Amino acid sequence: MHDTGRRQFDLPLATGNPRRLVIAAVIFMCGVLLLSTALHVRWDRSQAVAKSTEAMQTLAAALNGQAESTFRIADTVLTALISMHRSGGHGAANIGELNQVARTQIRELGELDGLYMSDAQGQYFLATNANPHTLNNADRRYFQHHRQGPDDGLYIGQPIKGKTTGQWVITLSRGIYGDDGSFQGVALATLNVERFSGLYRSLPLGEQGIVVLAKRDGTILARSESNAQTYLTNISQSPMLQAINQGTPKGAVTLTAIVDGVRRIYGFDASPKYPVLVAVAMPEQEALAAWQQRAWAIGGFALAAVLGVAIMGMLVLRALGKQSAMAIELRAAHQSLASANSTLRTLATEDGLTGLANRRHLDDYLASAFRRARNEAMPLAFALVDVDFFKGYNDAYGHLRGDQALIEICKAMRARVRREGDLVARYGGEEMAIVLPDVAAEQALTMAEQVREAVQGLGIEHRQSAYDQVTVSIGVVAGVPGVDFDDAEAMVAAADRALYAAKGGGRNRVVLAARQHSDTGQLAEMP
Ligand code: GH3
Ligand code: MG
Ligand code: MG
Repeated sequence: MHDTGRRQFDLPLATGNPRRLVIAAVIFMCGVLLLSTALHVRWDRSQAVAKSTEAMQTLAAALNGQAESTFRIADTVLTALISMHRSGGHGAANIGELNQVARTQIRELGELDGLYMSDAQGQYFLATNANPHTLNNADRRYFQHHRQGPDDGLYIGQPIKGKTTGQWVITLSRGIYGDDGSFQGVALATLNVERFSGLYRSLPLGEQGIVVLAKRDGTILARSESNAQTYLTNISQSPMLQAINQGTPKGAVTLTAIVDGVRRIYGFDASPKYPVLVAVAMPEQEALAAWQQRAWAIGGFALAAVLGVAIMGMLVLRALGKQSAMAIELRAAHQSLASANSTLRTLATEDGLTGLANRRHLDDYLASAFRRARNEAMPLAFALVDVDFFKGYNDAYGHLRGDQALIEICKAMRARVRREGDLVARYGGEEMAIVLPDVAAEQALTMAEQVREAVQGLGIEHRQSAYDQVTVSIGVVAGVPGVDFDDAEAMVAAADRALYAAKGGGRNRVVLAARQHSDTGQLAEMP
């Protein structure tokens, strides 16, 4: 019972491992939380970029379609005017009718700004927005382009400041050629740049968003934010144009602009019919604004969760610490209890005066020695030792001297009976008992005799004794338990009878009792 108790108290003290386990669990949980949050935020960012990229591409395609259809209208009108001029001739009537038709077209078609026709010298003979006779366009690039040779395509020129309106316009022109291929002039349509710029600015791309309509050679035709410098800028070196000219007509790219250092997501789309393209860009920061807010929120939650886990871990650690302190206290209490118990046990089994085993211990010991000897069919001897004339000793020398004498007698007895398993006990009063396991009658008699001699050898004066010294009488019994004696009590009774006989025989002697189941029933006496 004692052992089980100690094991119980030892268990909670093994706190090293739980502490390490708690710390490892907290670190693991925080790590998983932070890692999964970081992965999610990164994934969310790539989704946001992908969404914006797709939006830029879609918008570029739509605006390219819008530009393309405007160019197609202008091209159709120019082709019709040239055809009318060719079939009707250069007579005043036809020129007048051409001017009428052109003005009607300008009124009907909102997309076009002006229509013009000039002869081979650049002299206008048709102008919707001014008096044609005061104007000459021989200095213009598009005029020189068409004069260089027959070319049946639509020429999209660099934006120019219109001579008639003073506004920036895109020029779309076709050359007029005779049947022999001779140059006869130019038909021209102008598109107000602001018509494009205004539309581009109305798109929700933020302050730093950009929309550009450009020619494949890098000439800018219109821009969301524009000034005079815009139209002198050439973007032929941009990676977008390089990609387009290398056979990728549409796509997306993220670039940091050299001009303003802003990183933008670009979507671009080149027309398959005309040599133009539209690029749409929004700042990456704007594209990621919503993502950034989500990232802050998720990051905040993750940090709060990590903090929570850490606090919980700390609380568990503190609880473990308290538990271990409690366990230490408990163990100390248990140890003092155990030592108190052991003292109590000693007190319960020891005789206070002589230090010998007490009567209770003797009874237990004798009973178990009897059982063991019976099981193993071994002999067992028992002796009762009584001080002779002890009442007289007390009367003569006083009770205290009597106690002293008893202590010395017991000491002498113990010095003689030293084998392992032997027990010397105080039977009661001035009477002692000796248990001698594994000892047969003869040896028991010898040992008892040695005890008697030892006591006499102490030489304690005793005037009231016939021997003038303190002596003891001893009754001895020996035999095989279960064979010679039925129980321990029978052995004690036999020893008592032998002691009685020793007293009767004159004291200071040893008498061996007969066995319970003996034939003779005689007592043997020593010496
Ligand atoms: P006998 O030789 O027949 O044994 O005579 P006795 O006087 O020894 O026998 P009795 O039983 O008449 O007296 C025993 C005495 O032992 C009585 C008692 O005062 C004394 N005695 C018993 N225990 C103690 C003790 O612890 N201390 C002291 N000083 N005396 C004790
Ligand atoms: Mg007695
Ligand atoms: Mg006595």
